[in-house]
Amino acid sequence: MNNRRVGLWLIGAFGGVGSTAALGLAALARNLMDTTSLVTALPLFADCDLDRPEQFTVGGHDIRLTNYAQAVAELHERSNVFDAGVMQACQPTLAEWSENVRPGTVLNAGSTIVRLADLPEAQRAESARAAVERIRADLQAFRAKHHLDQVVVVSVASTEPPFELGDNHQSLERLTPALEEASRPILPASSLYAWAALSLGLPYINFTPSLGASFPAIQQLGIEHRAVFGGKDGKTGETLLKTVLAPMFALRNMRILSWVGHNIFGNRDGLVLDDPQNKASKIRTKDQVISQIVGYKPQTHVSIEYIESLDDWKTAWDHIHFQGFLGVKMSMQFTWQGCDSILAAPLLLDLARLALFAQRRGEVGVLRHLACFFKSPMGVDEHDFFKQFQMLEQYVKSQTPAGA
Ligand code: NAD
Repeated sequence: MNNRRVGLWLIGAFGGVGSTAALGLAALARNLMDTTSLVTALPLFADCDLDRPEQFTVGGHDIRLTNYAQAVAELHERSNVFDAGVMQACQPTLAEWSENVRPGTVLNAGSTIVRLADLPEAQRAESARAAVERIRADLQAFRAKHHLDQVVVVSVASTEPPFELGDNHQSLERLTPALEEASRPILPASSLYAWAALSLGLPYINFTPSLGASFPAIQQLGIEHRAVFGGKDGKTGETLLKTVLAPMFALRNMRILSWVGHNIFGNRDGLVLDDPQNKASKIRTKDQVISQIVGYKPQTHVSIEYIESLDDWKTAWDHIHFQGFLGVKMSMQFTWQGCDSILAAPLLLDLARLALFAQRRGEVGVLRHLACFFKSPMGVDEHDFFKQFQMLEQYVKSQTPAGA
C-alpha cells in the first residue's frame, strides 16, 4: 500500500456539497460509514490504484465567513441528514480542514453571488490576473504546508450566470494579455479558479454549470501545463433519470412527444438559481440531453423553483408523453425525491480520485471517460448513461493490470 498524501481543494468549500463531501471523507477515513453510493467503490475499480480516504487533506476557497462544523450543523438542522455520532467524531478533522479554507473571489460572478459574500477579501476589486495570482498562491501554500504529492481542484461553488465568450477566449495568446485589464470583465470567477489550477498543472473538475474550463483558450493552457480536466455540472438526479430512461424509449422505437420536468428545492443553490440569469446556466445543461439520445427534438420544458421549506430535499416531477404502435399516445410520470448534497458528495469524491489517478498515469487534457458523471460532459456528445458508463469501464479495464 502506498503512503502518498493528496489534497482535495474545493471551490465553494463550505456549501452543501462541499461540506457533505468533507464530512463523508472524514467519516470514511475513520471507518464510520460504508461506501454505498461511491462509484469508485464498485468491484470494477478494485485493481485501480485510487487514493484511500485517509490519504486526503481538504482545503478550499469560499466567500462566506463560516467553517465546516457550522456548515455541517446547519445542513443537518435544516435537512436532517447526518448521524450525530458521525458529526461529533469527525469534528477534529473538520476543524483542521476549516483552517485550510481561504477567501475566494466573486469577480464577475454576478450580483446574486456577490450578495452571498460576507468576506471582505472575496469582494476586493482586482484584475483577473491579480485574482489568479492570489488563488495560485493559496494552492501552492496548501500543497507545501501539508507536504502533498498531488492536489486536485474541484469546483462546487454557486452557479454563475452564463458568460458571453468572444474572440479573445479562443486562443491563449489573445486571452493572456487581456487578464491584466481590471476594467473589463474578461473571465468569471469560475474560470479564474480554473485558470489558476491549470496553470499549476493541477487536475481540475467543474461540478457546476458555470463556465470554468469550458472554452478553447483555457484548455490550451491546461494542455500546455500537462493538466487533466473535466466537467461540467454533476449528473445526480432528474437529469440522471432522463439519460437512463430516454435510451429505453429510443431502443423500443417509441417516439417521445414531450418531456416536462418541474423541480422544486430550497437550499442555497436553489436560492441562487432563483435569479433568472443564474437559472439560465442550469436549464441549459439540463435541457439538452434528450434530443441527443433520441436523435430528434421533442418539446421539452424544465422549470426550477426555489421553495424554501424543502431545504436540501429536491423533488422533480416529470411527465413524458410518448407515441406507440398505431399512433397511440401514452404517458409515463415519475417523482424523484432526493437530498441534493447526499447525491452529489460521493460523486465529487469519485471524480477527485479518478482525476488524481489520471494525472499519475501521465494523462493530459479532457477526461472524456468521466462523461457519465456530468450533465454536460466536456468533449463528449454522448448523453446515454449506459454508453457513457461503458466508456468508463473500457478506460478502467485498459488501465488496470488485468486489462493491460
Ligand atoms: P451551496 O450554495 O450550498 O454551496 C455553494 C458554495 O459556494 C457556498 O458556500 C458559497 O458561499 C460558495 N461560493 C459561491 N461563489 C463562490 C466563489 N466565487 N468562490 C468561492 N466560493 C463561492 O450549493 P450546493 O448545493 O453545494 O451546490 C454547489 C454547486 O454544485 C452548484 O453550482 C450546483 O448547481 C452544483 N451542483 C449540485 C448538485 C447537487 O447538489 N445534487 C448537482 C449538480 C451540480
